Amino acid sequence: MKREKNLNLSQSQITETFLDAISDPVYFKDENGKYVLVSDSFVNLVDNQKEIIGNDSEDIFPGETGEEMQKEDESVISGEMTVENEEKLIECPDGVERWFSVRKIPYSGEEVERGMVGILKEITERKEAEEELKESEVRYRQTIENANIGIGVYGEDKKIEVLNETMQEIIGYDEEETPTLAQWFKKLYPDYEKRREISQIWFEEIAKNGQITGIETEISRKDGEKRTLLFNAVQLNTGNVIFFAGDITELVEAREKLEKRKEDLEKKNKELEAFVYTVSHDLRTPLISLEGFSDMLLDEFADELGEDGIHYLERIQANVQKMDDFIDDLLQLSRVGRKEPPKEEVKAGGVVEEVLEDLQSRIDEKGINVDVVEEMPTICFQRKRLYQIFSNLVSNACKYIGDQENPLIEIGVEDEGDSWLFWVEDNGIGIEEEQQDEIFEIFNREERCDAKGTGVGLAIVKRIIANQDGKIWVESEKGEGSTFYVKIPKED
Ligand code: ADP
Repeated sequence: MKREKNLNLSQSQITETFLDAISDPVYFKDENGKYVLVSDSFVNLVDNQKEIIGNDSEDIFPGETGEEMQKEDESVISGEMTVENEEKLIECPDGVERWFSVRKIPYSGEEVERGMVGILKEITERKEAEEELKESEVRYRQTIENANIGIGVYGEDKKIEVLNETMQEIIGYDEEETPTLAQWFKKLYPDYEKRREISQIWFEEIAKNGQITGIETEISRKDGEKRTLLFNAVQLNTGNVIFFAGDITELVEAREKLEKRKEDLEKKNKELEAFVYTVSHDLRTPLISLEGFSDMLLDEFADELGEDGIHYLERIQANVQKMDDFIDDLLQLSRVGRKEPPKEEVKAGGVVEEVLEDLQSRIDEKGINVDVVEEMPTICFQRKRLYQIFSNLVSNACKYIGDQENPLIEIGVEDEGDSWLFWVEDNGIGIEEEQQDEIFEIFNREERCDAKGTGVGLAIVKRIIANQDGKIWVESEKGEGSTFYVKIPKED
């Protein structure tokens, strides 16, 4: 391929070696704007099949690119201009657009009176990276601007560079009113002590952790209104700090209201429990004397009372006993959560055994078969409370077994990973669906199958379990028996 035209450069050898060594495309043109000498890299850029020498840019480069290059080259040759490292997007003969930093310098020599040298340094990669960066910066700015959370950015010099719309709305000040972080603190925290405290925490957190997570503070808006903001901030690699703020005033108010209600409720609950406790105690005293005097009447005046008198007295005694049971249960209920025994490692199997022993006469009386169908675990719980749970559930199962031909109670447990699920199942009279929630409320009992009770037992069990963050529920069908489930979380 021809790279020279009638050039008899004395140093052509040197020039060629130089041109081959150079990686940037270089070309020489004569006074007519035709290529007279080009480097290998220029040939590669253009198309190594094409005849370059003797042609001009319009012959080589496509359309407008060719025309513009030729025009510019001619202006350089005529001495009207030089091109010094101008960044140009050039459509190359292969149809691809590439970025070049272009230098064009006129020259004159012996053979060529007036000509020019063009050097095209490709910078596509850098340009693309720059474009990408620009785009991502635009995207980043847009994201910040459009975010519905307050966002700001300050530099290492503590000058605030960005304060998005939302942030300006939250604080009421605009960017110009808070040009620096110092100004920002001064405006938001007019009180000196408060300002000192918050800015100290702010800078310490950034210096120590490179971030701030969830500082909740009250600020003064421009209009004087106090608002509670939640701040987060992160120091970027560039040294800039981007900070976020959300106005949580309403949330905080709702939280405070809720806390206040919880406190009120707890207080009322305590008062109620204390009331129940006192009343129960006070009720007991007259009951004891009722019991004592009716015993005395029976012992000493039975003859004079006659059959009817004795019958009435026995009914009084039965009612006294009932009242006593009520008070007992009420006292038990009011003690749950107030006087809690310590937790210990309890063998659930041992507790169940004890419960069954204590209820043995009732079980035998009704001819009930009791099966403990799973091996009981050792759990961390209050022994006394676990006893109360099983005692209530098993005695209920006995009470409400009805007139089954083969009365059966089964007790079991399942390991659910983070909790134990105990169950007590009977094939007794069952519970109607609409009552299955109510039965756990105090005094919610139904007079059925002559079973006696106070309607407090399940309320006690529910309270014990709720105190340990557990759960109790029943699955039952009327006439088909009931299964009571007790879920007790395991200790960590
Ligand atoms: P009590 O047994 O003293 O009435 P509880 O609080 O222990 O009070 O039970 C409340 C009610 O739940 C009972 O009156 C009864 O109607 C129902 N109940 C409890 N256990 C069973 C059971 N195993 N089978 C059927 N009904 C039951």
